[in-house]
Amino acid sequence: MRYLSTRGHADRKRFCEILLEGLAPDGGLYLPETYPQISANHLTQLREVWKTQGYAALAFEVLSLYIDDIPPKDLRALCDKTYTEAVFGTREIVPLKRLKTKAVAGSQVILEALSNGPTLAFKDMAMQLLGHLFEYELARRNEELNILGATSGDTGSAAEYAMRGKKGVRVFMTSPQGRMSPFQQAQMFSLMDENIYNIVIDGVFDDCQDIVKAVSNDLEFKRKYKIGTVNSINWARLLAQVVYYFAGYLQATENNSQKVSFSVPSGNFGNVCAGHVARMMGLPIDQLIVATNENDVLDEFFRTGVYRVRGTADTHETSSPSMDISKASNFERFVFDLLGRDASQTKNLFHDQLNQKGQFDLGQNPLFEDAKNKFGFASGRSTHADRLKTIQDTFADNQIMIDTHTADGLKVAVPLAKPGVPLLVLETALPIKFAATLVEALGREPDCPAKFIGIESLPKRVQVLPMSVVAIKDYIVKHCN
Ligand SMILES: *Cc1c(COP(=O)(O)O)cnc(C)c1O
Repeated sequence: MRYLSTRGHADRKRFCEILLEGLAPDGGLYLPETYPQISANHLTQLREVWKTQGYAALAFEVLSLYIDDIPPKDLRALCDKTYTEAVFGTREIVPLKRLKTKAVAGSQVILEALSNGPTLAFKDMAMQLLGHLFEYELARRNEELNILGATSGDTGSAAEYAMRGKKGVRVFMTSPQGRMSPFQQAQMFSLMDENIYNIVIDGVFDDCQDIVKAVSNDLEFKRKYKIGTVNSINWARLLAQVVYYFAGYLQATENNSQKVSFSVPSGNFGNVCAGHVARMMGLPIDQLIVATNENDVLDEFFRTGVYRVRGTADTHETSSPSMDISKASNFERFVFDLLGRDASQTKNLFHDQLNQKGQFDLGQNPLFEDAKNKFGFASGRSTHADRLKTIQDTFADNQIMIDTHTADGLKVAVPLAKPGVPLLVLETALPIKFAATLVEALGREPDCPAKFIGIESLPKRVQVLPMSVVAIKDYIVKHCN
């Protein structure tokens, strides 16, 4: 298996070469040259693997189709270490919960729980594997890596819990002063592992991101101090996410003639892009429903064909904050496929047109219809009021509390359901992470998993730094020796 860039660079790379990289050299995103195809027989085999051996074995089967530069027995061991009941809380890893929520006749609404990992958000599903892959590959190369990131919540904690205690890796995670929920702050700042450095910046999230970019753009510093990232554009993260689309499908169906639809609370288009990959492989997915909050960049595209990047001023701070994005950093992967894998057209849109005009319009392109008809996409948006009502209704009907992001997914999906097609709504976080909105909706605190009770009163390990590139560089240098 070789990987190419969506912008047409001539290089073809193998999995472990792109594992520790972000963008391709030409600014594009990596994708496999072709999507491996799953025949009906193969899918029956995977059903058997799922039934008899569970999630880790299924992960190994799916990942093996894309990774041919790690010996199979090592890859299997990495999957077995990652996807355990001890880490993810249940034997199924991604159990389904059937809801009483009414959609169109004969379409069962089901939550697929992706948020029982160490930080209670779906990002653990991929990041936990990435931690083991990084440790393995760095040891093989006898190298070290210093991960520098910016977070407004879920990504930073998922990265830290995945990398804590891993050999050869340090994490320097910046976050804006006072912007994360108290629970999210406690999760990150209570980590005492020597290789984890929490840095609070006296600024907003964009300032953190600008600093990370400035440090990464200093190529000499980057090389000398082995600076890397764990962005959602990382192909290994996306690939790890493909597995739970298979696990969801296999749990919701009895045979391969059945289809299901997925609804995905979306921000950077990383999660739903993994669904797109699963569908391209031949997994019987009917619709991929892209649910956004008030930051509706993606819903606008799927409705009109216009992709319009927002400025800082018109990016809303919402009660589903992990979807508060101004542009969708994985979206280029789908557009590349939509355009029949035309790299020069993709480059024209994402490099030239976005830089010049901040937007592009495919509304008049005959291929735009394919987004819906051929690739199965549908979309919708949700608001704060919708979230409150969906959380209330779901609790009233099912006695189940859902988080604000999952509420967006459910709200958008129900009117789009089709008769006879099970609708799987991806549960992307647990409500305790966004307790304030749950209290607003239900007048009570959400349940806290036992392992996190009292976390907010634990000692904290965090460094406050000024909004300065020099200060961050100094801090990294000081802690790299
Ligand atoms: C990151 C995140 C999302 C958005 O996922 P994308 O891959 O960026 O589309 C949705 N919900 C939660 C809880 C998240 O942490």
